[in-house]
Amino acid sequence: MRNTIYFVLLLAFTFNAEAADYAKARADMVEEINSFAELVREDSEGRLSPKVMRAMGTVKRHEFVSGAHKPYAYANRPLPIGYGQTISQPYIVALMTDLIKTKRDFVVLEIGTGSGYQAAILAKLVKHVYTIEIIEGLTNEATDRLKRLGYKNVTAKLGDGYYGWEEHAPFDAIVVTASATHVPPPLVQQLKPGGLMVIPVGGRFMTQQLLLIEKTRNNELITRQMGAVRFVPLTRGR
Ligand code: SAH
Repeated sequence: MRNTIYFVLLLAFTFNAEAADYAKARADMVEEINSFAELVREDSEGRLSPKVMRAMGTVKRHEFVSGAHKPYAYANRPLPIGYGQTISQPYIVALMTDLIKTKRDFVVLEIGTGSGYQAAILAKLVKHVYTIEIIEGLTNEATDRLKRLGYKNVTAKLGDGYYGWEEHAPFDAIVVTASATHVPPPLVQQLKPGGLMVIPVGGRFMTQQLLLIEKTRNNELITRQMGAVRFVPLTRGR
């Protein structure tokens, strides 16, 4: 009996210690992203918004990677998530989230669900996130994971994100997390006037430019280059 109690206590202690380790690692990650942002963005907007950084400090990135990668979950770099795909670097997730200037009542479309991490960050900041993934295994895993972690305002589906999600359009903002050779016209069409889209554009074997596209209230497009990035390609017709 006593042994059982010791065992249960030890187990509880181990779990708590692990949770505390992750919490510390997550706080360190947030610090690192802030310093990195100050370094690379000294010219323009500077700091990333506090609410985005709060979301980065809350979402458990270690839940979005598999066992072998958990020790590196809070390193500021991309990690493999299977199927030849990656969960984006935390700084890039924070930057993309910051760029679309979220508001509480936003309905956002994400292309490239992957692990579901970017969707989870967005879910902390907006009303609803619709997200599309082209690989079935990843769609299923992300759906189960987001459900298990209690994210109720994310809807994921299997499909080709190039065409967007007409049924729920127009969107207040669109985040594309795979690199396209051009900006998909259906996504522009499904963006609300006044809305922002962030999308990496470029060739497959070169670095891409992160574009911030604003659709003005008169339906004009204003495109700004936000820096060089490297994403897995937006694939078509599988
Ligand atoms: N946002 C993800 C990381 C995305 S990696 C995360 O937070 O984990 C890019 C993802 O885009 C990959 O999972 C890839 O399978 C997916 N993808 C590639 N082409 C796509 C397409 N045409 N439509 C939807 N998803 C696509």
